[in-house]
Amino acid sequence: MSVTDCIFCKIVAGDIPGKRVYEDDEVLAFHDIHPIAPVHFMIIPKAHVESLAHCGPAEQAVLGRMLLLAPKLALEQGLHDGFRTMINTGRGGGQEVFHLHVHVFAAVRGWRIPRSLSDSRIGPTDSWCGILQTDLILERQNGFI
Ligand code: 5GP
Ligand code: ZN
Repeated sequence: MSVTDCIFCKIVAGDIPGKRVYEDDEVLAFHDIHPIAPVHFMIIPKAHVESLAHCGPAEQAVLGRMLLLAPKLALEQGLHDGFRTMINTGRGGGQEVFHLHVHVFAAVRGWRIPRSLSDSRIGPTDSWCGILQTDLILERQNGFI
C-alpha cells in the first residue's frame, strides 16, 4: 500500500476526520472508530511505517515516545485504574491498518463486543474476538459473571 492510500496518513494530514487526543511534531493519538472499550485510542507515528516489523534504528526514538505517551494519555482519558496496550503486527497478528499504531484501551469488566464489531466484517477468529473471549473467561474464573 502506498502512503497516499494509507488511512492513518490521511488522518495525520487532516484529509479524513479523526477524534484527536494528542498531537506533536512526530506523533498523533486519536480515538478508534470502532472502540472495543469505553476508552480506546491509538498512538501513531506521523511518518508512515507499515508495522513494528518494519521498524529499525530510525524509528527507535519515536517508538519510545509513543510508549511513554501511553500512560500519560491514558490518565488524561480517565483510565486511572490501568489500561491495556496492543500492537498488532502483520496479518497473522491481526493488523488491519498497515501504518504502525499502539492501541490503548481499558479492559473494563462487563464490557461486551460492540455491535459494529460483531458484524460480518470481523470473523470469530479475529484477534479482537480472541481478546474479548479471554476477558470473558477471566471474568468467569474470577466470579464476576
Ligand atoms: P489493527 O487491527 O490494524 O491493529 O487496528 C486498526 C484499527 O483502526 C481498528 O481498531 C479500526 O477500528 C481502526 N480504524 C480503521 N479505520 C479507521 C478510521 O478511519 N478512523 C479511526 N479513527 N480508526 C480507524
Ligand atoms: Zn500511513
